[in-house]
Amino acid sequence: MNDLHIISGQTVALPATAYQARHFIDGVAQDSADGRRSDRISPSHGVVVSQAALGSAVEAEAAIRAARAAFDDGRWSRLSGKARAAVLTRVADLIEANVGTLAVIETLESGKPIAQARGECGGAADLWRYAASLARTSHGDSHNTLGADILAVVLKEPIGVVSIITPWNFPFWILSQKLPFALAAGCTCVVKPSELTPSTTAMLAGMLTEAGLPAGVCNIVLGHGNPVGSLLSGHPDVDMVTFTGSTAVGRTITKVAGDRLKKVALELGGKNPQVIFPNCDLAGAADAVTFGIFFNVGQCCNSSSRIIVHEKIADDFVARVVALSRKVAFGNPLHPDTQVGAIVTPEHRERIDACVRAAVAAGAEVCLGGGSLTVPGLGGQFYQPTVIRGVTPDMAIAREEVFGPVLAVLTFRTPEEAIALANDATYGLSAGIWCDDIHTCLDFGRRVQAGTVWTNTWMDGFPEVTFGGVKQSGQGREIGSYGFDEFLEVKSLVMRIGRTRAPWVNQA
Ligand code: NAD
Repeated sequence: MNDLHIISGQTVALPATAYQARHFIDGVAQDSADGRRSDRISPSHGVVVSQAALGSAVEAEAAIRAARAAFDDGRWSRLSGKARAAVLTRVADLIEANVGTLAVIETLESGKPIAQARGECGGAADLWRYAASLARTSHGDSHNTLGADILAVVLKEPIGVVSIITPWNFPFWILSQKLPFALAAGCTCVVKPSELTPSTTAMLAGMLTEAGLPAGVCNIVLGHGNPVGSLLSGHPDVDMVTFTGSTAVGRTITKVAGDRLKKVALELGGKNPQVIFPNCDLAGAADAVTFGIFFNVGQCCNSSSRIIVHEKIADDFVARVVALSRKVAFGNPLHPDTQVGAIVTPEHRERIDACVRAAVAAGAEVCLGGGSLTVPGLGGQFYQPTVIRGVTPDMAIAREEVFGPVLAVLTFRTPEEAIALANDATYGLSAGIWCDDIHTCLDFGRRVQAGTVWTNTWMDGFPEVTFGGVKQSGQGREIGSYGFDEFLEVKSLVMRIGRTRAPWVNQA
């Protein structure tokens, strides 16, 4: 593996002490009633970098109670959009002022590179600002053509108490795809971050208070899916659950919440294809494929973990991707030049390796990587950038989410076959096409089963442009005005003008 670009030095120092993360309930930062805590061992450095309160039913119940009371007394939901927007904008300012601190702990808990963590935490401020703009501009509908004596309006109202359950791969970013939008709508919230990455969510609590968010409007409970996540999903005082994570847990949450007919929004896994036609910017496509699979070490719902490349150019294209993969800077996430860091846990690295072994056993060929990676001086877990070709559609590596730096290469001959292969998946989060022919791109964009389609680019995203999946990649949408609407109920208000209603009962 000497021909990989490995960065072993670091320029940001490891903090001298572990960050202490606490719950935030009814405006008060607190430890668990039973005093339980958990250690987070950094994926890259192998040392304890944070200690977090481990919640139980006591904290989950208290947080839901606080959120319910805060919603029902209208301390937030009945404020003007302008007042809510002012608070959200102040939170955005505070996030920007604290990007450096947020990014270091995000890096240490998740294993992602510091430059990326800074980009995500800083970029999250823009999600808060955009949500603030929606708080002020949200409006319903009016029906002024129902007759001279009838006027109807459709009101948008906050849905109520929202449980927000987030994963470890983009902790602060995904939190910011949900929380400011729920708050902008006037909802109150209980947030549960992943037990692997609790700290940046806990850090936000202080910023919310400083920005003027009333106590009880946003509560944070740290801990495991069971019991905290399950309680947040099924509790009778919760009106909606928004979840980002694995399809398996999403299914469990849907069952628990479905028993009480709660609204559920789900952002789940993906097996996202990029289709490469011969008549495209091949250099740009190869770079996007390299980015698409190795960004966040492939631990990304939007990872383009399979490519479907025209067989005529497959050899040349794979050679380009392999050459670029050798130049990607893998290694110590605390070095500013690092582009790809560590795998979240040792167990997850084993799962990734098992997927690669299974692909080889099924007859696929590893043309780059395929094993663990040691970064000098670091005690964490890393995996080599891996490219696997000779993949056929029936193989698990073509169908299942690996959630690691492992690219599966399939080939096609005709545009019809490319679309059929792209759609041959239980997932439908995102898809991409590289082609200079606009007609081929448009046809693909309309027929591919995915929530987002990129043409001649990959993973460009904007707060304004909604995001979400079809099939087993999820339900509901996030960000953009559609994502905001998920947190709103509509109510029709039908009004008669004057005493014109004809009696129903004949009183003659
Ligand atoms: P996960 O499903 O294991 O955990 C996600 C969250 O759910 C964590 O906070 C966890 O504690 C909680 N949880 C676990 N069991 C629960 C239960 N029974 N009830 C309620 N909550 C429970 O997912 P992960 O490993 O943290 O993240 C990886 C997965 O997330 C991948 O499948 C990835 O594709 C997906 N993901 C999707 C998107 C998207 O936008 N579509 C974005 C990021 C990650």
